[in-house]
Amino acid sequence: MLNANSRVDLHLHSTASDGVRTPQEIIQEALGQGVELIALTDHDTMRNTQEFNDLVKQAGLLSIKGMEVSALIQDQVVHILGYGLDPNSSAVQQYTEYYQHSEKRSDLRTIARLRLHGYQVDEEDYTCYVYNPRRGCWKLCAYLLDKGVVKDFAEYCAFQTQGLIENPQYWSAGEVISMIHQAQGKAVIAHAFDYQKDDPRALLDQLRYLGLDGIECFHSHHNKDQAQALCEYAQNYHLLITGGSDDHGHLPDRKMGSPAILYGQLKLGSLIDKID
Ligand SMILES: [Zn+2]
Ligand SMILES: [Zn+2]
Repeated sequence: MLNANSRVDLHLHSTASDGVRTPQEIIQEALGQGVELIALTDHDTMRNTQEFNDLVKQAGLLSIKGMEVSALIQDQVVHILGYGLDPNSSAVQQYTEYYQHSEKRSDLRTIARLRLHGYQVDEEDYTCYVYNPRRGCWKLCAYLLDKGVVKDFAEYCAFQTQGLIENPQYWSAGEVISMIHQAQGKAVIAHAFDYQKDDPRALLDQLRYLGLDGIECFHSHHNKDQAQALCEYAQNYHLLITGGSDDHGHLPDRKMGSPAILYGQLKLGSLIDKID
């Protein structure tokens, strides 16, 4: 039974995307930390959601179904959290199938581009390459590391900045919000201060017109003043208030329980009915 002082963490990643922990390991961490309500929000997939929810129940904890979706708004990539959505809905199925296809295509284009730049990589070799998700990075990144094309994650990011790595074709923010609504979910903008460091209000205004339901006010990257500013904005416009660490299991700046988020600080609206 949740009360205002119950600890919560509604933003967690597993091996289904770029986290290093299995659902079971995430739940062990939550039990150890005394976090009672958790949500798995892997990037662009709900592959581990059913297993996670079953294990959460067995452990006597509570969860809300989730997914973190990449979206474009005026050429900027933002992350929109979908909560309470149905993983078996045609909206989620269509989106995740589309995304996987798009990611495969953009990965192969990247490999072809790097080959033309003289790197020892090959599309067929990449297709056969077996990726170990417990390394906590994407297949493409793991492959380029193993082939010695990049020496570390920082260099992979530098390749991205230089335009050598092609991104999947993200949907627009409006399309993503509609997809989440069609799947009976609520759309919440993740870590808003990551996109506009000084003041994300203009971005929030745009997202609100597209049907945004809530704001992730509490996040590892937000300081107290930033969290407060986002809570005030959410309250002014009657938006939901959520929070989570964005723990991936291996990123030093994002750890479950930090910041400590209490159930009483959140405003979950009708998502309360989706807690199980
Ligand atoms: Zn994110
Ligand atoms: Zn995340």
